[in-house]
Amino acid sequence: MFLLLSLALLGFLARPGDAQDRAALWRGNDRAGRCQYTFTVASPSEASCPRAGGPEMEGVQARLSLLEATVARLVGEGAAASAPSAPDAGAEIREALNRALGERNLLQGEKERLEREQEALRRRLEEMLRETESLRSRPCPPQTPAVPGADIMRAAGGSSPVSHLMARPNRQGDSSSWRDSAWQEGFQELKAEVTEVPAPEEYTGCGVLTSVSEPVTHRKTDSIAGKYGVWMQDPEPMAPYGPDMVWRIDTVGSEVRQLYGYQNMEQLSKGFPTKVVLLPEALEGTGAAMYRGSLYYQRRRSRTLIRFDLASERVASRRELPHAGFHGQFPYSWGGYTDIDLAVDERGLWAVYSTSKAKGAVVLSRLDPHDLRVTKSWETTVRKNGVANAFVICGRLYTVASYSAANTTVNYMYDTDSSRGHVLAVPFQNKYRYNSMIDYNPTQKKLFAWDNFHLVSYDLKLGRPPAA
Ligand code: CA
Repeated sequence: MFLLLSLALLGFLARPGDAQDRAALWRGNDRAGRCQYTFTVASPSEASCPRAGGPEMEGVQARLSLLEATVARLVGEGAAASAPSAPDAGAEIREALNRALGERNLLQGEKERLEREQEALRRRLEEMLRETESLRSRPCPPQTPAVPGADIMRAAGGSSPVSHLMARPNRQGDSSSWRDSAWQEGFQELKAEVTEVPAPEEYTGCGVLTSVSEPVTHRKTDSIAGKYGVWMQDPEPMAPYGPDMVWRIDTVGSEVRQLYGYQNMEQLSKGFPTKVVLLPEALEGTGAAMYRGSLYYQRRRSRTLIRFDLASERVASRRELPHAGFHGQFPYSWGGYTDIDLAVDERGLWAVYSTSKAKGAVVLSRLDPHDLRVTKSWETTVRKNGVANAFVICGRLYTVASYSAANTTVNYMYDTDSSRGHVLAVPFQNKYRYNSMIDYNPTQKKLFAWDNFHLVSYDLKLGRPPAA
Protein backbone atom coordinates (compact mmCIF):
# COMPACT_ATOMS: atom_id res chain seq x y z
CA MET A 1 0.00 0.00 0.00
CA PHE A 2 2.77 2.34 1.05
CA LEU A 3 4.72 1.30 -2.06
CA LEU A 4 1.81 2.05 -4.32
CA LEU A 5 1.28 5.50 -2.75
CA SER A 6 5.00 6.28 -3.04
CA LEU A 7 5.02 5.29 -6.70
CA ALA A 8 1.96 7.47 -7.37
CA LEU A 9 3.61 10.42 -5.59
CA LEU A 10 6.84 9.89 -7.53
CA GLY A 11 4.90 9.79 -10.76
CA PHE A 12 3.13 12.98 -9.76
CA LEU A 13 6.44 14.79 -9.01
CA ALA A 14 8.33 13.44 -12.06
CA ARG A 15 5.61 14.30 -14.61
CA PRO A 16 3.89 17.41 -13.43
CA GLY A 17 2.19 18.13 -16.83
CA ASP A 18 0.83 14.66 -16.99
CA ALA A 19 -0.14 14.79 -13.35
CA GLN A 20 -2.15 17.98 -13.93
CA ASP A 21 -4.04 16.16 -16.66
CA ARG A 22 -4.71 13.27 -14.44
CA ALA A 23 -4.89 14.60 -10.85
CA ALA A 24 -6.46 17.64 -9.20
CA LEU A 25 -6.70 19.15 -5.78
CA TRP A 26 -9.99 20.91 -5.05
CA ARG A 27 -10.71 23.25 -2.29
CA GLY A 28 -14.17 24.57 -1.62
CA ASN A 29 -16.84 25.09 1.00
CA ASP A 30 -19.22 22.34 1.65
CA ARG A 31 -22.97 22.84 2.08
CA ALA A 32 -22.43 23.82 5.67
CA GLY A 33 -19.93 26.47 4.60
CA ARG A 34 -16.87 24.66 5.95
CA CYS A 35 -13.67 24.45 3.86
CA GLN A 36 -13.27 21.08 2.20
CA TYR A 37 -10.21 19.72 0.28
CA THR A 38 -10.74 17.08 -2.43
CA PHE A 39 -7.88 15.25 -4.16
CA THR A 40 -8.76 13.32 -7.31
CA VAL A 41 -6.65 11.01 -9.50
CA ALA A 42 -7.56 9.71 -12.95
CA SER A 43 -8.37 6.06 -12.97
CA PRO A 44 -5.68 4.05 -14.78
CA SER A 45 -8.20 1.47 -15.90
CA GLU A 46 -11.45 3.31 -16.53
CA ALA A 47 -11.83 5.77 -19.40
CA SER A 48 -14.98 7.17 -17.85
CA CYS A 49 -17.04 6.81 -14.70
CA PRO A 50 -20.04 4.55 -14.93
CA ARG A 51 -22.18 7.50 -13.77
CA ALA A 52 -21.71 11.20 -13.47
CA GLY A 53 -20.96 12.64 -10.07
CA GLY A 54 -18.38 11.85 -7.48
CA PRO A 55 -16.68 14.12 -4.98
CA GLU A 56 -15.57 16.65 -7.61
CA MET A 57 -19.08 17.06 -9.01
CA GLU A 58 -20.49 17.19 -5.52
CA GLY A 59 -18.00 19.95 -4.64
CA VAL A 60 -18.88 21.84 -7.78
CA GLN A 61 -22.57 21.34 -7.13
CA ALA A 62 -22.16 22.41 -3.52
CA ARG A 63 -20.32 25.56 -4.52
CA LEU A 64 -22.78 26.19 -7.33
CA SER A 65 -25.72 25.85 -4.99
CA LEU A 66 -24.04 28.14 -2.51
CA LEU A 67 -23.30 30.65 -5.25
CA GLU A 68 -26.84 30.43 -6.58
CA ALA A 69 -28.27 30.95 -3.12
CA THR A 70 -26.01 33.96 -2.53
CA VAL A 71 -26.85 35.47 -5.94
CA ALA A 72 -30.55 34.83 -5.44
CA ARG A 73 -30.41 36.41 -2.00
CA LEU A 74 -28.54 39.46 -3.31
CA VAL A 75 -30.80 39.85 -6.33
CA GLY A 76 -33.85 39.31 -4.16
CA GLU A 77 -32.74 41.88 -1.61
CA GLY A 78 -31.74 44.35 -4.31
CA ALA A 79 -35.04 43.94 -6.09
CA ALA A 80 -36.99 44.23 -2.88
CA ALA A 81 -35.03 47.28 -1.83
CA SER A 82 -35.04 49.19 -5.06
CA ALA A 83 -36.92 47.83 -8.04
CA PRO A 84 -40.58 48.25 -7.15
CA SER A 85 -40.30 51.55 -5.23
CA ALA A 86 -37.75 53.34 -7.40
CA PRO A 87 -40.24 54.68 -9.98
CA ASP A 88 -42.66 55.67 -7.17
CA ALA A 89 -39.96 57.53 -5.29
CA GLY A 90 -38.89 59.33 -8.47
CA ALA A 91 -42.46 60.35 -9.26
CA GLU A 92 -43.00 61.53 -5.68
CA ILE A 93 -39.86 63.64 -5.77
CA ARG A 94 -40.85 65.11 -9.13
CA GLU A 95 -44.34 65.85 -7.86
CA ALA A 96 -43.00 67.47 -4.70
CA LEU A 97 -40.61 69.53 -6.80
CA ASN A 98 -43.40 70.65 -9.12
CA ARG A 99 -45.56 71.51 -6.14
CA ALA A 100 -42.75 73.48 -4.55
CA LEU A 101 -42.07 75.32 -7.82
CA GLY A 102 -45.77 76.11 -8.26
CA GLU A 103 -46.02 77.44 -4.73
CA ARG A 104 -42.86 79.45 -5.18
CA ASN A 105 -44.34 81.07 -8.33
CA LEU A 106 -47.59 81.84 -6.54
CA LEU A 107 -45.71 83.33 -3.60
CA GLN A 108 -43.58 85.36 -5.99
CA GLY A 109 -46.75 86.75 -7.63
CA GLU A 110 -48.25 87.48 -4.23
CA LYS A 111 -45.06 89.22 -3.13
CA GLU A 112 -45.06 91.42 -6.23
CA ARG A 113 -48.70 92.30 -5.69
CA LEU A 114 -48.06 93.19 -2.04
CA GLU A 115 -45.12 95.36 -3.07
CA ARG A 116 -47.34 97.23 -5.54
CA GLU A 117 -49.95 97.60 -2.86
CA GLN A 118 -47.38 98.86 -0.38
CA GLU A 119 -46.20 101.42 -2.91
CA ALA A 120 -49.78 102.59 -3.55
CA LEU A 121 -50.39 102.86 0.20
CA ARG A 122 -47.18 104.83 0.64
CA ARG A 123 -48.29 107.27 -2.05
CA ARG A 124 -51.72 107.63 -0.47
CA LEU A 125 -50.14 108.23 2.93
CA GLU A 126 -47.93 110.95 1.46
CA GLU A 127 -50.97 112.56 -0.18
CA MET A 128 -52.87 112.48 3.10
CA LEU A 129 -49.93 113.97 4.97
CA ARG A 130 -49.70 116.78 2.42
CA GLU A 131 -53.43 117.35 2.71
CA THR A 132 -53.19 117.40 6.51
CA GLU A 133 -50.37 119.93 6.34
CA SER A 134 -52.29 122.21 3.98
CA LEU A 135 -55.39 121.95 6.20
CA ARG A 136 -53.34 122.83 9.27
CA SER A 137 -51.87 125.88 7.61
CA ARG A 138 -55.34 127.15 6.61
CA PRO A 139 -57.40 129.17 9.12
CA CYS A 140 -60.61 127.48 10.26
CA PRO A 141 -63.67 128.83 8.45
CA PRO A 142 -65.87 130.45 11.11
CA GLN A 143 -69.13 129.07 9.73
CA THR A 144 -68.11 125.43 9.96
CA PRO A 145 -69.02 123.85 13.24
CA ALA A 146 -67.22 120.63 13.91
CA VAL A 147 -69.55 117.74 13.31
CA PRO A 148 -68.02 114.41 14.30
CA GLY A 149 -67.54 112.15 11.30
CA ALA A 150 -68.31 114.87 8.73
CA ASP A 151 -64.86 114.65 7.12
CA ILE A 152 -65.13 110.92 6.77
CA MET A 153 -68.52 111.28 5.20
CA ARG A 154 -67.32 113.86 2.71
CA ALA A 155 -64.24 111.83 1.84
CA ALA A 156 -66.35 108.80 1.08
CA GLY A 157 -68.22 110.81 -1.56
CA GLY A 158 -71.88 111.49 -2.11
CA SER A 159 -74.06 113.95 -0.28
CA SER A 160 -74.01 113.68 3.46
CA PRO A 161 -77.19 113.65 5.52
CA VAL A 162 -75.57 116.25 7.77
CA SER A 163 -74.10 118.44 5.05
CA HIS A 164 -76.78 121.12 5.48
CA LEU A 165 -75.62 121.54 9.07
CA MET A 166 -72.17 122.47 7.93
CA ALA A 167 -73.41 125.00 5.40
CA ARG A 168 -75.60 126.96 7.84
CA PRO A 169 -75.16 130.74 7.41
CA ASN A 170 -73.76 132.84 10.23
CA ARG A 171 -76.85 134.12 11.96
CA GLN A 172 -75.31 135.26 15.18
CA GLY A 173 -72.41 137.45 14.23
CA ASP A 174 -68.77 136.50 14.60
CA SER A 175 -68.36 136.20 18.34
CA SER A 176 -66.65 133.20 19.84
CA SER A 177 -69.89 132.25 21.54
CA TRP A 178 -71.33 131.71 18.05
CA ARG A 179 -69.37 128.56 17.62
CA ASP A 180 -70.71 127.09 20.81
CA SER A 181 -74.31 127.98 20.12
CA ALA A 182 -74.15 126.92 16.45
CA TRP A 183 -72.46 123.75 17.47
CA GLN A 184 -75.09 123.14 20.11
CA GLU A 185 -77.86 123.84 17.63
CA GLY A 186 -76.30 121.62 14.99
CA PHE A 187 -75.76 118.91 17.52
CA GLN A 188 -79.36 119.08 18.72
CA GLU A 189 -80.58 118.96 15.14
CA LEU A 190 -78.33 115.99 14.37
CA LYS A 191 -79.45 114.27 17.54
CA ALA A 192 -83.05 114.82 16.55
CA GLU A 193 -82.36 113.34 13.12
CA VAL A 194 -80.62 110.34 14.64
CA THR A 195 -83.41 109.70 17.12
CA GLU A 196 -85.93 109.97 14.31
CA VAL A 197 -84.40 106.96 12.54
CA PRO A 198 -86.85 104.14 13.29
CA ALA A 199 -85.55 101.01 14.96
CA PRO A 200 -84.91 98.16 12.52
CA GLU A 201 -88.09 96.24 12.05
CA GLU A 202 -88.85 92.84 10.60
CA TYR A 203 -89.20 93.47 6.91
CA THR A 204 -89.43 90.69 4.37
CA GLY A 205 -89.63 92.73 1.17
CA CYS A 206 -86.83 94.05 -0.98
CA GLY A 207 -85.34 96.43 1.53
CA VAL A 208 -82.33 98.50 2.46
CA LEU A 209 -79.42 97.01 4.37
CA THR A 210 -79.63 97.71 8.08
CA SER A 211 -77.19 95.20 9.58
CA VAL A 212 -74.64 92.50 8.76
CA SER A 213 -74.06 89.61 11.19
CA GLU A 214 -70.73 88.18 12.29
CA PRO A 215 -69.24 85.91 9.63
CA VAL A 216 -69.97 82.18 9.72
CA THR A 217 -66.97 80.10 8.58
CA HIS A 218 -67.75 77.18 6.25
CA ARG A 219 -64.34 76.05 5.10
CA LYS A 220 -60.64 76.84 5.35
CA THR A 221 -58.73 76.15 2.15
CA ASP A 222 -55.66 73.96 2.37
CA SER A 223 -53.13 75.44 -0.03
CA ILE A 224 -51.64 78.79 -1.03
CA ALA A 225 -53.93 78.73 -4.11
CA GLY A 226 -56.84 79.32 -1.71
CA LYS A 227 -55.59 82.63 -0.30
CA TYR A 228 -58.30 84.36 -2.33
CA GLY A 229 -61.07 83.22 -4.60
CA VAL A 230 -64.79 83.18 -5.22
CA TRP A 231 -67.52 80.86 -3.97
CA MET A 232 -71.24 80.96 -4.57
CA GLN A 233 -74.58 79.22 -4.86
CA ASP A 234 -76.89 79.79 -7.79
CA PRO A 235 -79.90 81.79 -6.49
CA GLU A 236 -81.98 80.47 -9.41
CA PRO A 237 -80.43 77.08 -10.24
CA MET A 238 -81.25 75.03 -13.31
CA ALA A 239 -81.04 71.29 -14.05
CA PRO A 240 -78.96 69.25 -13.63
CA TYR A 241 -77.90 71.22 -10.56
CA GLY A 242 -80.12 71.92 -7.57
CA PRO A 243 -80.25 74.76 -5.04
CA ASP A 244 -77.86 73.05 -2.61
CA MET A 245 -74.98 72.91 -5.09
CA VAL A 246 -72.02 75.06 -4.01
CA TRP A 247 -69.40 76.33 -6.46
CA ARG A 248 -65.88 77.46 -5.79
CA ILE A 249 -62.92 78.87 -7.76
CA ASP A 250 -59.46 79.41 -6.24
CA THR A 251 -58.18 82.49 -8.05
CA VAL A 252 -54.50 82.62 -7.06
CA GLY A 253 -52.30 82.05 -10.13
CA SER A 254 -52.25 83.21 -13.73
CA GLU A 255 -54.19 80.38 -15.36
CA VAL A 256 -57.38 80.09 -13.34
CA ARG A 257 -59.71 77.62 -15.06
CA GLN A 258 -60.91 75.13 -12.47
CA LEU A 259 -64.45 75.34 -11.18
CA TYR A 260 -65.26 72.96 -8.31
CA GLY A 261 -68.79 71.88 -7.55
CA TYR A 262 -69.93 70.49 -4.17
CA GLN A 263 -73.19 68.67 -3.60
CA ASN A 264 -74.02 70.85 -0.59
CA MET A 265 -72.49 72.98 2.17
CA GLU A 266 -71.55 69.91 4.19
CA GLN A 267 -69.50 68.48 1.33
CA LEU A 268 -67.87 71.88 0.87
CA SER A 269 -66.92 71.91 4.56
CA LYS A 270 -65.45 68.44 4.20
CA GLY A 271 -63.64 69.45 1.00
CA PHE A 272 -65.13 66.77 -1.27
CA PRO A 273 -66.08 68.14 -4.68
CA THR A 274 -68.44 66.08 -6.83
CA LYS A 275 -67.75 68.04 -9.98
CA VAL A 276 -64.67 69.65 -11.50
CA VAL A 277 -65.17 71.75 -14.62
CA LEU A 278 -62.26 72.99 -16.70
CA LEU A 279 -63.32 76.36 -18.08
CA PRO A 280 -62.50 76.92 -21.76
CA GLU A 281 -60.85 80.26 -21.03
CA ALA A 282 -59.02 81.48 -17.93
CA LEU A 283 -60.65 84.03 -15.68
CA GLU A 284 -59.36 87.00 -13.74
CA GLY A 285 -60.22 88.58 -10.40
CA THR A 286 -62.85 87.42 -7.90
CA GLY A 287 -65.90 88.86 -9.66
CA ALA A 288 -67.48 85.71 -11.07
CA ALA A 289 -71.17 85.07 -10.41
CA MET A 290 -73.56 82.13 -10.75
CA TYR A 291 -77.05 82.77 -12.09
CA ARG A 292 -79.76 80.66 -13.74
CA GLY A 293 -77.49 77.72 -14.53
CA SER A 294 -74.62 79.79 -15.94
CA LEU A 295 -71.29 80.95 -14.61
CA TYR A 296 -70.59 84.56 -15.57
CA TYR A 297 -66.98 85.70 -15.51
CA GLN A 298 -64.40 88.08 -16.92
CA ARG A 299 -61.95 86.53 -19.34
CA ARG A 300 -58.32 86.95 -18.29
CA ARG A 301 -56.54 90.15 -19.45
CA SER A 302 -59.64 91.43 -21.24
CA ARG A 303 -62.92 93.27 -20.72
CA THR A 304 -64.72 90.32 -22.30
CA LEU A 305 -67.50 88.81 -20.25
CA ILE A 306 -68.28 85.14 -20.71
CA ARG A 307 -71.46 83.23 -19.95
CA PHE A 308 -70.58 79.57 -19.43
CA ASP A 309 -73.61 77.27 -19.49
CA LEU A 310 -73.19 74.57 -16.83
CA ALA A 311 -75.60 72.05 -18.34
CA SER A 312 -73.86 71.89 -21.74
CA GLU A 313 -70.45 72.98 -20.36
CA ARG A 314 -70.10 75.37 -23.28
CA VAL A 315 -69.68 79.12 -23.69
CA ALA A 316 -73.24 80.34 -24.30
CA SER A 317 -72.36 83.98 -24.98
CA ARG A 318 -69.54 86.46 -24.78
CA ARG A 319 -69.37 90.23 -25.07
CA GLU A 320 -67.06 93.10 -24.24
CA LEU A 321 -68.13 95.32 -21.36
CA PRO A 322 -67.79 98.69 -23.12
CA HIS A 323 -64.87 100.87 -21.94
CA ALA A 324 -64.39 98.81 -18.77
CA GLY A 325 -60.93 98.95 -17.20
CA PHE A 326 -59.28 95.56 -16.70
CA HIS A 327 -56.09 93.84 -15.48
CA GLY A 328 -55.26 96.29 -12.72
CA GLN A 329 -56.59 99.53 -14.19
CA PHE A 330 -59.45 100.03 -11.72
CA PRO A 331 -59.30 97.26 -9.12
CA TYR A 332 -60.70 97.34 -5.59
CA SER A 333 -58.30 98.59 -2.92
CA TRP A 334 -56.68 95.19 -2.34
CA GLY A 335 -55.75 94.79 -6.03
CA GLY A 336 -55.92 91.26 -7.37
CA TYR A 337 -57.14 92.40 -10.84
CA THR A 338 -60.59 92.92 -9.37
CA ASP A 339 -61.50 95.42 -12.08
CA ILE A 340 -64.78 93.83 -13.10
CA ASP A 341 -67.07 92.52 -10.36
CA LEU A 342 -70.27 90.75 -11.39
CA ALA A 343 -73.19 90.71 -9.00
CA VAL A 344 -76.65 89.18 -8.78
CA ASP A 345 -79.66 90.47 -6.89
CA GLU A 346 -83.46 90.19 -6.94
CA ARG A 347 -83.56 92.15 -10.19
CA GLY A 348 -80.91 90.26 -12.17
CA LEU A 349 -77.29 90.55 -13.25
CA TRP A 350 -75.01 93.56 -12.68
CA ALA A 351 -71.43 94.62 -13.40
CA VAL A 352 -69.45 96.85 -11.02
CA TYR A 353 -66.40 98.42 -12.69
CA SER A 354 -64.92 101.73 -13.83
CA THR A 355 -63.90 103.47 -17.03
CA SER A 356 -61.45 106.17 -18.08
CA LYS A 357 -64.41 108.47 -18.67
CA ALA A 358 -65.61 107.93 -15.10
CA LYS A 359 -62.02 108.60 -13.94
CA GLY A 360 -61.94 105.60 -11.64
CA ALA A 361 -65.38 106.16 -10.05
CA VAL A 362 -67.56 103.09 -9.62
CA VAL A 363 -69.84 102.46 -12.60
CA LEU A 364 -72.81 100.13 -12.12
CA SER A 365 -74.38 98.53 -15.21
CA ARG A 366 -77.38 96.29 -15.51
CA LEU A 367 -76.67 93.37 -17.90
CA ASP A 368 -78.94 91.22 -20.00
CA PRO A 369 -78.20 87.76 -18.55
CA HIS A 370 -78.83 86.12 -21.89
CA ASP A 371 -76.46 88.01 -24.19
CA LEU A 372 -74.54 90.22 -21.71
CA ARG A 373 -75.66 93.52 -23.28
CA VAL A 374 -75.56 96.56 -21.00
CA THR A 375 -79.16 97.68 -20.63
CA LYS A 376 -78.54 100.68 -18.35
CA SER A 377 -75.61 102.32 -16.52
CA TRP A 378 -75.15 104.56 -13.48
CA GLU A 379 -72.03 106.46 -12.43
CA THR A 380 -71.41 106.93 -8.72
CA THR A 381 -69.10 109.31 -6.85
CA VAL A 382 -67.16 106.56 -5.05
CA ARG A 383 -63.65 105.75 -6.24
CA LYS A 384 -63.38 102.08 -7.07
CA ASN A 385 -59.83 101.70 -5.73
CA GLY A 386 -60.90 103.40 -2.50
CA VAL A 387 -63.27 100.61 -1.46
CA ALA A 388 -62.69 96.95 -0.67
CA ASN A 389 -65.61 95.36 -2.50
CA ALA A 390 -69.21 95.85 -3.57
CA PHE A 391 -72.49 93.97 -3.83
CA VAL A 392 -76.00 94.76 -5.01
CA ILE A 393 -79.25 94.21 -3.06
CA CYS A 394 -82.62 95.14 -4.52
CA GLY A 395 -81.13 97.45 -7.15
CA ARG A 396 -78.93 99.23 -4.60
CA LEU A 397 -75.15 99.09 -4.76
CA TYR A 398 -73.27 98.85 -1.45
CA THR A 399 -69.52 99.24 -0.92
CA VAL A 400 -67.33 98.00 1.95
CA ALA A 401 -64.67 100.40 3.26
CA SER A 402 -61.77 98.06 4.11
CA TYR A 403 -60.71 94.54 3.20
CA SER A 404 -58.21 94.20 6.07
CA ALA A 405 -59.60 96.05 9.09
CA ALA A 406 -61.23 93.60 11.50
CA ASN A 407 -64.02 96.09 12.13
CA THR A 408 -65.00 98.15 9.12
CA THR A 409 -68.27 99.38 7.61
CA VAL A 410 -70.52 99.15 4.60
CA ASN A 411 -69.81 102.79 3.89
CA TYR A 412 -71.85 103.80 0.84
CA MET A 413 -75.08 102.98 -0.93
CA TYR A 414 -76.21 103.96 -4.41
CA ASP A 415 -79.87 103.57 -5.31
CA THR A 416 -80.49 102.95 -9.02
CA ASP A 417 -84.18 103.88 -8.62
CA SER A 418 -83.40 107.43 -7.51
CA SER A 419 -79.91 107.61 -9.15
CA ARG A 420 -78.60 108.96 -5.86
CA GLY A 421 -76.01 107.76 -3.39
CA HIS A 422 -75.19 108.49 0.21
CA VAL A 423 -72.79 107.43 2.90
CA LEU A 424 -73.59 104.68 5.37
CA ALA A 425 -71.93 103.20 8.42
CA VAL A 426 -73.25 99.65 8.77
CA PRO A 427 -70.68 97.65 10.79
CA PHE A 428 -68.93 94.85 8.88
CA GLN A 429 -66.29 92.39 10.12
CA ASN A 430 -63.27 91.06 8.24
CA LYS A 431 -62.60 88.26 10.71
CA TYR A 432 -59.52 86.93 8.90
CA ARG A 433 -58.25 90.36 7.80
CA TYR A 434 -57.99 89.85 4.03
CA ASN A 435 -61.40 89.86 2.38
CA SER A 436 -61.05 89.34 -1.36
CA MET A 437 -64.65 88.74 -2.45
CA ILE A 438 -68.10 89.74 -1.18
CA ASP A 439 -71.31 88.92 -3.05
CA TYR A 440 -75.00 88.84 -2.25
CA ASN A 441 -77.23 85.81 -2.69
CA PRO A 442 -80.81 87.05 -3.15
CA THR A 443 -82.44 83.68 -2.43
CA GLN A 444 -80.67 83.15 0.87
CA LYS A 445 -80.50 86.87 1.73
CA LYS A 446 -76.86 86.35 2.70
CA LEU A 447 -73.46 87.67 1.75
CA PHE A 448 -70.87 85.14 0.62
CA ALA A 449 -67.24 86.18 1.14
CA TRP A 450 -63.71 84.82 0.83
CA ASP A 451 -61.58 86.10 3.69
CA ASN A 452 -57.93 85.01 3.77
CA PHE A 453 -58.28 81.25 3.02
CA HIS A 454 -61.71 81.17 4.71
CA LEU A 455 -65.06 80.77 2.96
CA VAL A 456 -67.53 82.70 5.10
CA SER A 457 -71.10 83.97 4.93
CA TYR A 458 -72.97 86.79 6.68
CA ASP A 459 -76.64 87.00 7.58
CA LEU A 460 -78.31 90.28 6.72
CA LYS A 461 -81.15 92.38 7.99
CA LEU A 462 -83.03 94.47 5.48
CA GLY A 463 -85.33 97.26 6.50
CA ARG A 464 -88.25 99.04 4.89
CA PRO A 465 -86.89 101.51 2.34
CA PRO A 466 -87.60 105.17 3.09
CA ALA A 467 -90.59 106.67 1.27
CA ALA A 468 -89.54 108.35 -1.97
CA1 CA B 1 -68.49 91.57 -5.22
